[in-house]
Amino acid sequence: MESLPNMRLTTQRQIILEELGKVTSHPTANEVYDMVRKRLPRIGLGTVYRNLELLAESGVILKLEVGGTQKRFDATVEPHYHIRCAQCGKVDDIEIPVQEQIEDAAHQASSYEILGHHIEFSGICNSCQQKGMN
Ligand SMILES: [Zn+2]
Ligand SMILES: [Zn+2]
Repeated sequence: MESLPNMRLTTQRQIILEELGKVTSHPTANEVYDMVRKRLPRIGLGTVYRNLELLAESGVILKLEVGGTQKRFDATVEPHYHIRCAQCGKVDDIEIPVQEQIEDAAHQASSYEILGHHIEFSGICNSCQQKGMN
């Protein structure tokens, strides 16, 4: 019986992870909350938020923090690049090869030991382009 609270937490975390893994839209904590609530109606936003932070800290998911906008979360942790719509703020994965040579260049320019890099493109998504044409 003592282990019950922990088990519940673990189940919540698993469900959060499962729901995040179903989408490639890089949802905000609020959007993850809406998804998870369908399966766990009593869960709170704070719980979802804390679990997302924990999962990000342990490297199970990625946390995207760019340009002072809302944090978004990503179940894909392999190196990949993002593109963000400058109009609606949506974030997509962009399927181009990861540029490893950029890390050598950064190492040479800074003498830092390079641990990784992130690239985020900005642009106008398809649906915003179409809205602009109307
Ligand atoms: Zn857009
Ligand atoms: Zn991504």
